[in-house]
Amino acid sequence: MTTSTSLWRAFTPVGPTYDQLNGTTETDVTVIGAGFTGLSTALHLAKTGTSVTVLEAEDVGFGASGRNNGQVIPVLTRADPDALTARFGEAGERFVRLIGGSAATLFDLVREHGLECEAEQSGWVQPAHSPGRFKAISENRYRQWIKHGTEVELLDKAELERRIGTNFFFGGFGNRTGGHINPLALTRELARAAAENGAVIHEHSPALSYERDGEGWLVRTPQGTIHSRALVVATNAYTGEMTPGLAPRLARSVMPVTSWQLATAPLSENVRSTVVPDRQAISDTHGDLHFFRYDARNRLITGGALALPFNGHQRIRARIAKRLERIFPQYVEPEIEYSWTGYVGATRDHTPHFHKLGPNGWTWIGCNGRGVSLSVALGGELAKAVQGVPEQDLAFPLTEIEPLPLHKFLRLTSRPFNLTLYRYRDWRDIG
Ligand SMILES: Cc1cc2nc3c(=O)[nH]c(=O)nc-3n(C[C@H](O)[C@H](O)[C@H](O)COP(=O)(O)OP(=O)(O)OC[C@H]3O[C@@H](n4cnc5c(N)ncnc54)[C@H](O)[C@@H]3O)c2cc1C
Repeated sequence: MTTSTSLWRAFTPVGPTYDQLNGTTETDVTVIGAGFTGLSTALHLAKTGTSVTVLEAEDVGFGASGRNNGQVIPVLTRADPDALTARFGEAGERFVRLIGGSAATLFDLVREHGLECEAEQSGWVQPAHSPGRFKAISENRYRQWIKHGTEVELLDKAELERRIGTNFFFGGFGNRTGGHINPLALTRELARAAAENGAVIHEHSPALSYERDGEGWLVRTPQGTIHSRALVVATNAYTGEMTPGLAPRLARSVMPVTSWQLATAPLSENVRSTVVPDRQAISDTHGDLHFFRYDARNRLITGGALALPFNGHQRIRARIAKRLERIFPQYVEPEIEYSWTGYVGATRDHTPHFHKLGPNGWTWIGCNGRGVSLSVALGGELAKAVQGVPEQDLAFPLTEIEPLPLHKFLRLTSRPFNLTLYRYRDWRDIG
């Protein structure tokens, strides 16, 4: 059996559905986008009795939150703690603490609300694919996280091999608070918990525009309008995709990059017990990232990147099956059963961006591929922001929106160029 739909869509129980917005309504906080960010914000607000309304253009989890690899990783892709604190000072320090604690935050929220999302807090590991990258990890990343007070571990080659069942790598870096979840299940469960706490959710209600309305905000959808005191735009890499007029400058400040996700057939217990026996989430140091984790049915959920999209499903399946066999020779002829795609928001500085849209108006964008635990944790911070916690106490650094020049052109051309560059640097072991 092969299919080009998402594994998560195929296996996740369908949650409640939510009515379209019709007519004019009022709420204290309007949230645009029902992914991890929007729903975590809504849940945090609803729990304190704040009236909050979430608008989703499609259905809950339609965006990256329902399509991703589900790895709960309390580290950004490239920006390490020293760079964040050097650039953003105390706000950077608070942001580093939020990132380092984000996996624990996510799993605690799952336990607190009984969110059924196949959560496994089995740890996250970043294996180094070359001696040079292992040196970089041990001398920089590992030391920086220790210095900033986060418990992380450095694994030598032998220990890494024992833990993940391959001698392909040269050592690694890990955080035991990480792990993995079924992302669509978590999104649907966050919606359920938010609604049970009083949040109002509207699916199939794309926000067409937002504007200042006296002291507050006015958001329009095709069938309705919402007046609110505060606004959170949580549309992330999908910002320009449904309604290009919603926030064009914000949409042009990130590059939506297609990420391919794949799921194998369930592994036999004989093979599974030798391939990542401890079931951690794994994403390595390649720029052309190698990553995998199990789902609850012992399928390996993996994926990769293509420079050009033609014949994509067939090409990515062949490429990644070979990759899996190279890394785990005991796993003979991996059979890929599902492949699907989603957009990752990439920023020029590889760092998430946080913006104030006006009085009581907030947004963030650009996870650069590390947004599962980050966006759930940020939901708590965005909730604080709209509740009036002073900016100097929030755990994210604010910047101005900077649209990328030639966005349309770069969107077409930058992927093949960047991926070729990443592969060259991976091959030549350039950091
Ligand atoms: C394929 C893939 C794999 C990934 N794997 C990982 C991983 O393993 N680990 C990790 O840490 N990160 C991963 N990420 C990143 C992570 O998924 C995202 O950072 C995170 O889900 C972002 O959540 P969000 O709620 O901010 O955005 P989204 O989940 O994208 O939600 C935005 C929502 O806004 C809606 N929307 C857009 N426009 C409008 C509008 N006008 N009106 C109303 N609604 C609108 C969209 O439909 C969407 O549902 C991956 C991303 C992708 C795409």
